[in-house]
Amino acid sequence: MKSRKFRKSSRLIFRIIGLTLSVVVLGFILMKSPEIIQSVKQFITPSVLPPGRWQAKTHTTHLFCGHAQIIRDDSKTADFFKEAGANHGKNPNFEVRTNEHLIIYRVKKNDWCNSCRRNRFLGIQGENVAVLRGTPLQPGPVQEIININAGILPDSERNDLIRGIPFANEREKLEVLEGLSGLISD
Ligand SMILES: [Zn+2]
Repeated sequence: MKSRKFRKSSRLIFRIIGLTLSVVVLGFILMKSPEIIQSVKQFITPSVLPPGRWQAKTHTTHLFCGHAQIIRDDSKTADFFKEAGANHGKNPNFEVRTNEHLIIYRVKKNDWCNSCRRNRFLGIQGENVAVLRGTPLQPGPVQEIININAGILPDSERNDLIRGIPFANEREKLEVLEGLSGLISD
């Protein structure tokens, strides 16, 4: 009785193993190009290549300001993964997390992040009023030091500058700066 049960369950296990191997072999036959197989092999073992969707995340570090942006794309398929593996097989910035169905691509670019490219605000650098890139919540580097000593401004204006005063264009910036200069010369 016991041994029959054992035989039954071991037969089942062999069947499962056999089925898994056939799926794996079939998967590899489907991947026709030997180059693709070669580069995909670098990342994964054959049994975990799924037919489903993958997620791609591009982590871009913008070197001018140091800010990072992550672009997520949930639409990728296993085909994209295979292609990406072939294209980036030798790139250390390309990471495939097979268990999570996730591809991470790290890129460094010699440019500003979108926020620093578009936005400016007035703040304080050292003692002086300054123009900074980005937003008060995510400040970028100082772009311009203004010859106005923030230390001698009234508290409310100084606090505004500490929090950051965004402006939309050059005219708005000059208006704020003229207002601040006026407070000092009064
Ligand atoms: Zn930035």
